[in-house]
Amino acid sequence: PDRLLLYCRPGFEADLASEVAERADGLGWTGTPEALIGCVDFPVDGDLPANELHRQLRLAGLVFARQSLVSLPPLCLSREDRLTPIIEQVVASGWSFETVWQETPDTNEGKALAGLIRALARPLESLLKKRGALRRKAGGRRLHLCWHDGERVQLGMSFPGNRSELPGGIRRLKFPRGAPSRSTLKLEEAWHEFVPRDEWPDRLAEGMQAADLGAAPGGWTWQLVRCGMHVFAIDNGPMDKGLMASGMVEHLREDGFVWEPPCRLDWLVCDIVDKPARVVAMVERWLVRRWCREAVFNLKLPMKRRWETVSRCLAGLEGALDDAGVRGEIRCRHLYHDREEVTVHVRLLD
Ligand code: SAM
Repeated sequence: PDRLLLYCRPGFEADLASEVAERADGLGWTGTPEALIGCVDFPVDGDLPANELHRQLRLAGLVFARQSLVSLPPLCLSREDRLTPIIEQVVASGWSFETVWQETPDTNEGKALAGLIRALARPLESLLKKRGALRRKAGGRRLHLCWHDGERVQLGMSFPGNRSELPGGIRRLKFPRGAPSRSTLKLEEAWHEFVPRDEWPDRLAEGMQAADLGAAPGGWTWQLVRCGMHVFAIDNGPMDKGLMASGMVEHLREDGFVWEPPCRLDWLVCDIVDKPARVVAMVERWLVRRWCREAVFNLKLPMKRRWETVSRCLAGLEGALDDAGVRGEIRCRHLYHDREEVTVHVRLLD
């Protein structure tokens, strides 16, 4: 295998391509990423197998990638017999797997391929089994068929520990009853992404204190309150009445960029729509003064070169924490419920 295939939100292919090229370059790899629809095909130069780059480029450390696969060149298929070329490519590669997933870009055209995928699923699995490519013990490896359209498919392989376990790399969440706004799902998804499930009882615990900057109408505050936290909700706008009736929220009509907490808090969250650099500078101040232990905030990205903006912001934040002697773990992901924005998580380590 000489290439990677990475999935992203449609419309963000160029950002993912820039990100991957830059990150690969930093690891000593070159290649020419091609932005397709909802994914980036990244053939790499040189003789080393792309598996090596895939191992070094952790999915959790990428911003715009939803899924990361080692892959084979795309196949053009005829309507008469789509399966034979697929099976032959798998067999020729010598790959074997425990599971097979068929996926499409997250677009209407992609959804329209559902019937085709359903029809192929059974014969595909049985042919793969027959040829020994689909079997019980194969190191947890999974075969992905990424359908670019009805005639073009690209095969990829994923490995446990460095992949999304969700189809398409998409975490669909049910809108919780009673939450004041759709935004509520962004914070919920951020916790799924950044806080291991077994640590929720300690890190998202009853009795903790949080600040929510740009809180109105209260979707994020609602998530914090659901965990049993007391919340300072900072916003000039009105908060949801039902949420205020919980008695867990103190609503302050102040400027989130200048407000200071009365004591050390556990969480800072911020969903203010403003310049990324301005938001980062504000969060930096919180972290350097240790006003919170963990933070989740969004960087809004209405500009063209989103990766450049994000990477500049993250580098700035990392540098500022370093200079202040504050150890922290910074992660940033373009979540499914994020549109023109990415979500950053910071956890202070001491
Ligand atoms: N996270 C909220 C939710 O889940 O319901 C939605 C937040 S909305 C995207 C952004 C909010 O930031 C608006 O309510 C706006 O009033 C507020 N905002 C904008 N600038 C602000 C500032 N300087 N200080 C505090 N709030 C601000």
